[in-house]
Amino acid sequence: MLKKYLIAPGPTPVPEKVLLEMTKPVIHHRTSEFSATFEKVANGLKKVFSTEQDVLMLAGSGTAAMEAAVVNTLNPGDNVLVINAGKFGQRWRDICKTYGILVSTIDMDWGKAAKPEEIEQFLKANPDTKAVLLQGSETSTTVYHPVEEIAKVVRKNENTLLIVDGITSIGVHDTKFDEWGIDIAITGSQKAFMLPPGLSLICLSKKAWNFVEKSTIPRYYLDLRKELKSQKQATTAYTPALTLINGLAVVLEMFEEEGLENVYKRHAVNGEATRAAVKAMGFKLLAETPSNAATGFYLPEDIDGGKLVKFMREKVGITYAGGQDHLKGRIVRISHLGYHDAFDTITAISGLEMGLRKFGVDIKLGSGIAAAEEILQNYIGE
Ligand SMILES: *Cc1c(COP(=O)(O)O)cnc(C)c1O
Repeated sequence: MLKKYLIAPGPTPVPEKVLLEMTKPVIHHRTSEFSATFEKVANGLKKVFSTEQDVLMLAGSGTAAMEAAVVNTLNPGDNVLVINAGKFGQRWRDICKTYGILVSTIDMDWGKAAKPEEIEQFLKANPDTKAVLLQGSETSTTVYHPVEEIAKVVRKNENTLLIVDGITSIGVHDTKFDEWGIDIAITGSQKAFMLPPGLSLICLSKKAWNFVEKSTIPRYYLDLRKELKSQKQATTAYTPALTLINGLAVVLEMFEEEGLENVYKRHAVNGEATRAAVKAMGFKLLAETPSNAATGFYLPEDIDGGKLVKFMREKVGITYAGGQDHLKGRIVRISHLGYHDAFDTITAISGLEMGLRKFGVDIKLGSGIAAAEEILQNYIGE
């Protein structure tokens, strides 16, 4: 038998209750029954985003919402600033370039977080910048960018939007869309929202909706004006990802039951415990300012991370994530996202201790576990 544990930063495990909900027969979407669910979900999403604005639901993975953010608000020839601190920062850059937008980047070494002062200086020198685009968590490096501080800097500029890919930060780190002054935030279903992939979410500030009026980039499926009009009436412009939205209704009930502060705290505690474990095992963290979505750490030089991750997945049943691009084979990333509790952290750490031993690394068995338990034991049963 090989029991499977999914401990990679997306897709993440789906709770049994949510899976069950999604096995129910499909209903028609132009019905009052679906609209009732839609309304419930729309209200719940506002709480997670901390906003009074509409959070629009799109059928498509997270990248669909990223593309929607760009094509609805910008214009070819616009200048934008992208925080390029990893794989997903590069995606913002590439989407913008696809549409003829002129991209400047602040290039960070992988593992480093964006500096608000540097963004402030850039905007002073380049006041015609139409948008600053970044991630909340840069999942490829497990870094959390200081979104709140960055928002303070960007919102001083009336003609600049702050566009945040919150795919692994919304539902993980408390993100106050209205209060902080974020202009666009997006996320997807398969990370903190504990659902299968296929649904993406996007929220625009009033300022961003003004940009929508002036944007001329051609768009059809991702035209947010059409979506807003329909979604204000508790339906979607096209056939919605019905089953995922039904699942999302249950996820939001679970958030409500746990309390959003406790959802954030659970991610923080599991993140802290994992970081302590990794350090106790003698490894160096990748992120300077770590995200609570996932923990990345450097493997010893002589270990092939690709082989280790493959062995753990195929022979042991634990799926971690490895590194991308120049970090391929050099790091392991352990997720804390979504349906993940103290004993998922213990499984992740224990698996690593034993797996790394098999690969010849001199690890004292239990050293990581002990460090993790020192932190987790303060919280279990609370
Ligand atoms: C997973 C992820 C994405 C990718 O979204 P898809 O759902 O694969 O389209 C984008 N940004 C970040 C930060 C992510 O973690």
